[in-house]
Amino acid sequence: MKFGGTSVQDAEAFARVAAIVAGEQENSPVVVTSAMSKVTDALLNAFDLAKKGEVENAILSLDSHFERHKAVARELTNEAHQRLFQVELDFAEKELGDLLMRVSRRSLPLQMLKDAIVSYGEQLSSRLLAFVCAAKGLNARHADSRRLIVTDDEYGSAAPIRDETEKLIQLELQSLINAGEIPVMGGFIAASRSGETTTLGRGGSDYSAALVGAALKAREIQIWTDVTGVLTCDPRICSEARTLKTLSYEEAAELAYFGAKVLHPKTIQPAVDLQIPVRVCNSHQPQEKGTMILPSSQATSRLVKSIAYKKGITILHITSARMLGAYGFMSAIFQIFERHRTVIDVVTTSEVSVSLTLDNTDSLEAVVKDLQRIGTVDIEPNQAVVCVVGSGLRDTSGVAGQIFTAIADFNISLISHGASSVNMTFVVEENVVKDVIKRLHDEFFK
Ligand code: ADP
Ligand code: ASP
Ligand code: MG
Repeated sequence: MKFGGTSVQDAEAFARVAAIVAGEQENSPVVVTSAMSKVTDALLNAFDLAKKGEVENAILSLDSHFERHKAVARELTNEAHQRLFQVELDFAEKELGDLLMRVSRRSLPLQMLKDAIVSYGEQLSSRLLAFVCAAKGLNARHADSRRLIVTDDEYGSAAPIRDETEKLIQLELQSLINAGEIPVMGGFIAASRSGETTTLGRGGSDYSAALVGAALKAREIQIWTDVTGVLTCDPRICSEARTLKTLSYEEAAELAYFGAKVLHPKTIQPAVDLQIPVRVCNSHQPQEKGTMILPSSQATSRLVKSIAYKKGITILHITSARMLGAYGFMSAIFQIFERHRTVIDVVTTSEVSVSLTLDNTDSLEAVVKDLQRIGTVDIEPNQAVVCVVGSGLRDTSGVAGQIFTAIADFNISLISHGASSVNMTFVVEENVVKDVIKRLHDEFFK
């Protein structure tokens, strides 16, 4: 059972979570929690301040968040637990002060310090949730994720080492479960083989839950969030968005990858490996069933299931007449991206050009410089990828026509169709993406 930041935003939310966990007591749950909402952002902001040399401001900026944790403990736990949690808070405050000071002095690699700092969101929320669950009479016990999930040392988006992680989780958590205890751990955080704290990337708590679920061969992985399941599109764009009862792994993976924030893109893989159902449900309305994500798609009358989007995309067009009838160009281009560790999302090609999209432009300058040795490079920033998902899209005639007729008055710059049987992806300018999504939602779901 994974609870996201808005599911643990204040005392009321913590109390709801404890009640939801109590309802699953008979099913031997493991609880994975995110940081309290806004805490990860606050820690990252503190890191940035310290980097600019403003250590005092950085430390002060965290005060209100420590106070939020304390308020939850005051409201929901007994005095003994409050004292114990205060020890945790004092330690965190001291450590964070120390780490922020190191950031300003650059006394350790910054990426390493950043993960150590940001990990305190989940370290504190998980300890607090364990106390809150215990106060409710549950046999809850905190487990430190940094001793359970082993990753490489790619700070900020570390990759778990699956077999080692699995063994540790089985060894440490299974015995707790067998003894009737409910392990409560932080999502998102892990440690490298050498024991340094790492993180799995923003939104990574979903991934942690899936790793734990897979290691323990769970019957179900539950993602508890602030919306009732996976919807036909982001409800923040379309208030008429509706909950999908079921979704296939493949459909969910495409949606997550192309921006449906409700599920971290990597969450699905561990579930797929063991064919474990993933349920996405609403901690604010626990009686609602939410969405079941299952190995294969259930037949529905609707072809299009959902529409996702991702903003902040940059398109690169690489053109070279030398590409005509020659081989090796694609490989040369992709090698450049590999060298700069830059992920490509959508690719289209013609005889003499390749166009592709990136969402991480950290190495853009260096990438472009290398690409210019191959051909001319044009850059289009401020784009958005739109992804229409539904099983059988590739094999059904007329869908593409329906999509592009509905948005005929918008300029579309890249189309990718057919690589996956469940999606149709294209790129529009960022400032029109909301209108495009609304139009498509009206077309397919009215
Ligand atoms: P959590 O903190 O629980 O992990 P997130 O903010 O990461 O929650 O994800 C939930 C949010 O995802 C929702 O509030 C919603 O705005 C957004 N979202 C985007 N696309 C979708 C979609 N297709 N279905 C449901 N939610 C979506
Ligand atoms: N707290 C982390 C984040 O905000 C991880 C998560 O919530 O999944 O990105
Ligand atoms: Mg999330």
